[in-house]
Amino acid sequence: MSEPAPLLAVENLRVEFPTRRGTLVAVHDVSFSIAAGEVLGVVGESGAGKSLTGSAIIGLLDPPGRIAGGRVLLDGQRIDDLPYEAMRRIRGRKIGAIFQDPLTSLNPLYTVGRQLVETIRTHLDLGEAQARARAVGLLEEVGIPAAARRVDHYPHQFSGGMRQRVVIALALAASPRLIVADEPTTALDVSIQAQIIQLLKRLCKEHGTAVMLVTHDMGVIAETADRVAVMYTGRIVEIGPVADVIHRPQHPYTVGLMGSIPSIVDERERLTQIDGAMPRLTAVPPGCPFHPRCPRAFDRCRRERPELMPAGATRAACWLHDTAGRAAA
Ligand code: SF4
Repeated sequence: MSEPAPLLAVENLRVEFPTRRGTLVAVHDVSFSIAAGEVLGVVGESGAGKSLTGSAIIGLLDPPGRIAGGRVLLDGQRIDDLPYEAMRRIRGRKIGAIFQDPLTSLNPLYTVGRQLVETIRTHLDLGEAQARARAVGLLEEVGIPAAARRVDHYPHQFSGGMRQRVVIALALAASPRLIVADEPTTALDVSIQAQIIQLLKRLCKEHGTAVMLVTHDMGVIAETADRVAVMYTGRIVEIGPVADVIHRPQHPYTVGLMGSIPSIVDERERLTQIDGAMPRLTAVPPGCPFHPRCPRAFDRCRRERPELMPAGATRAACWLHDTAGRAAA
């Protein structure tokens, strides 16, 4: 079966932060693609570069952060070098965004209906009445009860979970091709998290919308994603189909991440923890950036940095999978 053409292609993305003491590279040479209707989970500890990768794609990097290399293509069109206004039009129309805090996306001073209608009319050629009907339809679709009445309520009149549903409606308002969701359930009660994740997954499958789901939570990834990219110190260290990454992780860092999740590992197995902390960007060690924490590190790991290479059913940046190198050794 041939691979579907990617909807989003990220090629060798590099994000830098100029500082007084030099340039910090927060995202190194990151490449991946997402097909229409596919959910790619991007996971890693805080500071791994996953949120910055999402922000770079949607053109919302906080200055002085900047894209210093690589390309981002949406539907084959390059979008990383667009002027602000052109990118603003793409955001909303072709790319929707969902952030951790629903109040980042919602204006407390306007009813949710007004915000939905404004977004719909900015991007779609609809009159006021049609846009309002679409707004009510979207609220129904995301599971807001009595949507025809609730459309005239303000954000503070909704619970946290309901507000995040409104944000999902807002993100879907102009039928975007891609949604970038950054920790969309982290601020919600555990009981609500699964509902929101299921909702997001269902809507995107139904609409054929691709999702880049950024999270630190492997449990959320297991529930939602088709494929997973694991990030560490600004690089992808493993990428592959979700079932393989979860059940047969190939990079020792992924093994550690998986081992720290009680719901996924076999109950009889002892939970493993990854010793130490991810280094700061100013102190990334030479060789494999994971080597000081890696239980399987050997000499070469301290000297040479591995690139992604085939590893089982995934690709991992780890010398343990360098069969050519091992054969030569
Ligand atoms: Fe561990 Fe070496 Fe693989 Fe890095 S390259 S993850 S240090 S075994």
